[in-house]
Amino acid sequence: MASKVQTSPDEFRDHISTVDEHGKRVWVYPKKPKGKLYDYRKWVSYGLLTLLFVGPFIKINGLPLLMLNVVERKFVIFGVLFWPQDFFILVLAFLALVVFIILFTVVYGRLFCGWVCPQTIFLEMVFRRIEYLIEGDYTKQRALDKMPWNTEKILKKGSKTVVFLLISFIIANTFLAYIIGIDALKQIVTDNPMNHLGGLSAIVVFTGVFYWVFAYFREQVCTIVCPYGRLQGVMLDKKSLTVAYDYGRGEPRGKFRKGQERTEGDCIDCHQCVQVCPTGIDIRNGAQQLECINCTACIDACNDIMRLIDKPEGLIRYDSEEAIAEGKSWKLFTPRVMGYSAVLALLLLALSALLIIRDNAEATILRTPGQLYQKTEQGTVKNLYNISVINKTNTEMPLTLKLLSSDGTIKVVGNELVLPAQGIAEGVFFAEIPKEQLTGMNSEIEIGVFHNDELITTQETKFLAPAK
Ligand code: SF4
Ligand code: SF4
Repeated sequence: MASKVQTSPDEFRDHISTVDEHGKRVWVYPKKPKGKLYDYRKWVSYGLLTLLFVGPFIKINGLPLLMLNVVERKFVIFGVLFWPQDFFILVLAFLALVVFIILFTVVYGRLFCGWVCPQTIFLEMVFRRIEYLIEGDYTKQRALDKMPWNTEKILKKGSKTVVFLLISFIIANTFLAYIIGIDALKQIVTDNPMNHLGGLSAIVVFTGVFYWVFAYFREQVCTIVCPYGRLQGVMLDKKSLTVAYDYGRGEPRGKFRKGQERTEGDCIDCHQCVQVCPTGIDIRNGAQQLECINCTACIDACNDIMRLIDKPEGLIRYDSEEAIAEGKSWKLFTPRVMGYSAVLALLLLALSALLIIRDNAEATILRTPGQLYQKTEQGTVKNLYNISVINKTNTEMPLTLKLLSSDGTIKVVGNELVLPAQGIAEGVFFAEIPKEQLTGMNSEIEIGVFHNDELITTQETKFLAPAK
């Protein structure tokens, strides 16, 4: 629990809980949580961690499940390859994601932070549990930190550092696998290190960053850095679901006295909810505090107390501010939710349509700079072109080119065009069209790019000819 000096009832809203009045960090020693919701969260985290670590090994049609290669500007989402040329689809997908996040947050508050966010899962379900295992519960951790450096402290702190570094190293490799792909990562690990100095440096830097975040920076990510956390104030309203204290039932709080009839509210001021809080706040100060990541540890802690004093569970529970204030039940559908849902549905529809009509390849055909046209003895006109084709699949494709807008022929200069898997093919070709088919000095022609007689993409370009 963080120690705090409070000067007014609302003073806690003036600064974050982990910074004292002198601006210094207050280290949070949360009590080890336990309870039904904590157990559910453990199971959810096992599933998500398995998905995260197995993800880089899963391939769909030879392509990764997810790869965000910002270095080579190549993105694979659910086995579908996107190039910078697909930028508009990615922008639409990003917009749909933003609307989804807003919609989800308006309805379910910070459910994501408590149950799904990788920061919470790694910190609370991996690093913190290892810390409890090595250093003991919060009182022992505090005592260990105050202790002078002796054998016990060196052993405990040393072994924790080694385990934390090892896990950070595994996370760093997984993170890199999502950027460059598992095959490139395997090469870095197995090949001569001198050939992969950049990749190896990235692993070292990522390991250091993850270690620093989970060993030192911790809840500050949620309270200071995370933009999603900072935006809660504008996304949540009184109807949003949140972890809330039922002050109507709990106040006035007062100590529990065994055998005496209770005249106060149900809160016995035992501070168990505060002691388990990983961000060092008191949920009784009010719902929707900036630091609350909705981790549910205080719900479990309070339910334990309620059972002990023979009161109904749920003094702290998932509910909306409005429902707590008015004693109403929480509502899922509000006009704002329906409005966002309509926008989200439209965006998803547009996104699906773009994905369905998206070509497997994309060609750029431009007249070769500095070249005019050639007249032939057979009464045709020739133009020289440069072609560049991008493959958005994982299959190699030999290509043929055909004129679609008029009769005529196309002759590729040099070798046949072969489009490598996930790669780019570049070449030069002549388009030859009978003079009588040309409408003017600068006509528009359409060229089809075929693979095995199947039209995979088309491109329009200009064709120059002499005046008639
Ligand atoms: S755990 Fe429950 S009873 Fe104890 S202080 Fe918190 S709200 Fe009150
Ligand atoms: S107030 Fe409760 S739900 Fe919020 S962060 Fe603290 S323990 Fe978790």
